[in-house]
Amino acid sequence: MASKDYYEILGVERDADAKTIKRAFLKKARVLHPDVNKEPDAEAKFKEVNEAYSVLSDERKRANYDRYGTAEGPGGFGSDYVDMSDIFGGGFGINDIFDSFFGGGQGGGTSRAARTRGRDMGITLRVTLEEAAAGCTKTIAYDRLAPCDDCGGTGVAEGGHVKTCDRCHGTGRVVEVQRTIFGQMQTQTTCPACHGSGKVVDKPCETCEGQGRTPSRETVDVKIPAGMHSGQSLTVKGKGEAGVRGDASGDLVVRVEVAESETFQRQGDDLFCRVAVDSLQAIVGTTVRMRGILPDDEVVVEVPAGCSYGQQVRVERMGMPRVGTTARGSLIAVIQVVPPKGLTAEQLDDIRKIVDARGEKDAAGEPKAKPAQDGADFAGTRKKPKFKGRGRRNGRSK
Ligand SMILES: [Zn+2]
Ligand SMILES: [Zn+2]
Repeated sequence: MASKDYYEILGVERDADAKTIKRAFLKKARVLHPDVNKEPDAEAKFKEVNEAYSVLSDERKRANYDRYGTAEGPGGFGSDYVDMSDIFGGGFGINDIFDSFFGGGQGGGTSRAARTRGRDMGITLRVTLEEAAAGCTKTIAYDRLAPCDDCGGTGVAEGGHVKTCDRCHGTGRVVEVQRTIFGQMQTQTTCPACHGSGKVVDKPCETCEGQGRTPSRETVDVKIPAGMHSGQSLTVKGKGEAGVRGDASGDLVVRVEVAESETFQRQGDDLFCRVAVDSLQAIVGTTVRMRGILPDDEVVVEVPAGCSYGQQVRVERMGMPRVGTTARGSLIAVIQVVPPKGLTAEQLDDIRKIVDARGEKDAAGEPKAKPAQDGADFAGTRKKPKFKGRGRRNGRSK
């Protein structure tokens, strides 16, 4: 990849400006697009041209490429940029952009009117659970058909005009008569002269071929509100595909995917997490302080005396924020009783004395451990909060 000369692929000088690079790319892409070019190596060349353009059209990647011979640079990209493969994986790749750019799907003899409004586009954005809890702003880089810079989205070159199409008289459709074995057949098709818009430009803009829009790398800042759930989406108005010749743009729909956390498991607005408690402390009760989901959270877990393995202790208002409110869910600490560490021989002796004093009968009467509880999913073990009043002890839900 690094050995390719992107400038040579696009046929531009090394000091070419952004506009020149874009024009050269569009020119090459139009003749190499697999829909129009049936040469066996057209697709490979088309991909090469795309790759060259994706690097040279991005200031950061181009600078890296000029300096280090690779778009990634020496240390790779900052995490603020979304992996482009995510976006392509979502079904909105460069081919999709070109399909609409070349009027793909308008053939086939249907009388479907040409679409001139821009389509909505979808992108998946992944955030961590911590980011979803605190809320964050993410910069998304993506490809879309944007209004053409050279004609301001009109599709008309300087001195040109938009006229009613002569071929279809502005209807956007033409009737064709075909002779078949069943006799004459009349079919209505989209007007090939105006692609169904009913209007033609006498002097089209060269850059966009009169479409008023060109493929463009865009960046948009998306604000994720605190408490967002996986699968919810945000709409950025007008940042989808641009319309033909100044028609309305579609929207960019950003679907948020919240990654799972190793520490916290989310259930609605509540967060479950395992808290290890020394078995001796579990007997007498203790207070555990721990880090919460938000940077400033200090979670205080009141472990009651006689706490057993798997017992849940609820800490109110330490869960996920609820979108658009100041409310928060609860943090539910699932107590993991662990053997005490670092007991001295004397301490062990003392404990043994207590155990001996209680006698064998009591020891044998202890409930048996349930190994299945260890590592079991929290789901299904959730209990509704039983204590609503203030000042009452939490954690006696078992
Ligand atoms: Zn233009
Ligand atoms: Zn027409």
